[in-house]
Amino acid sequence: MRAIALVDLDDTLFQTLRKCPPDVPAERLIPLGFAKDGEPLSYATPRQQSLIAWLSETAWLVPVTARSRDALMRAHVPFTAAICAHGGVILGEDGEPDAEWHAHAEAQSAALQPELDALCDRVIAEAVRQGAALRVRVLNEGKLGLYVLAKHEETDEDALHAVIDAVLGEVPPGWTVHRNGNNAALMPPWLGKQHAVAFLLPRLRAAYPDAPVIGIGDSLTDAPYMGLCDFAMMPKGSQLAHATLDRLA
Ligand SMILES: [Mg+2]
Repeated sequence: MRAIALVDLDDTLFQTLRKCPPDVPAERLIPLGFAKDGEPLSYATPRQQSLIAWLSETAWLVPVTARSRDALMRAHVPFTAAICAHGGVILGEDGEPDAEWHAHAEAQSAALQPELDALCDRVIAEAVRQGAALRVRVLNEGKLGLYVLAKHEETDEDALHAVIDAVLGEVPPGWTVHRNGNNAALMPPWLGKQHAVAFLLPRLRAAYPDAPVIGIGDSLTDAPYMGLCDFAMMPKGSQLAHATLDRLA
């Protein structure tokens, strides 16, 4: 018997060196995420390595990640199917994009391109007005414009959040603003991990009817898709654990 594990990657199965727990010696960390030039970027602790090994032995592992398709391929985690780019892309068991979801994404993305561009320009203008060194762009996946991504060049999260706060009133209705650390994503209504999971999950359930579905993630934006699963897991100390378990303890 296998389970189906819908698993976020970054800050769940591995993280950058800066975010690794200080009590784990560097030589026990294993790099699992790599930059385009092959440099290691993300590392798993021994317990995370064991979790990945356990999941891959006992579950059909389906990453549900904000990573682009390319960045997913640069993460050394085995998978059965995958959801990437915050749900903009679904990869089937053959590693190819799901045609039906891709057609839906293409139509949505084309319709919303003017709003995406306008919002991106607005965030850039506000960053300039506040003198904040942000990198702001429309995140594309192939030809699809998906969402606006903003990061502070020197990881000044307060400065990033001040800019995002100032434009909140101009974010179109139904759009979501996702913030976690030095990342802010402004996403149109159709985009979000939970929408792609809602599309994919019935197929997985049909293929494996009695498999328990476990959602695993660290961020507030993971909660909606984790809520579609039978069980949920979150890393200790994560944004999601702070908002739920720590608050109840
Ligand atoms: Mg994460």
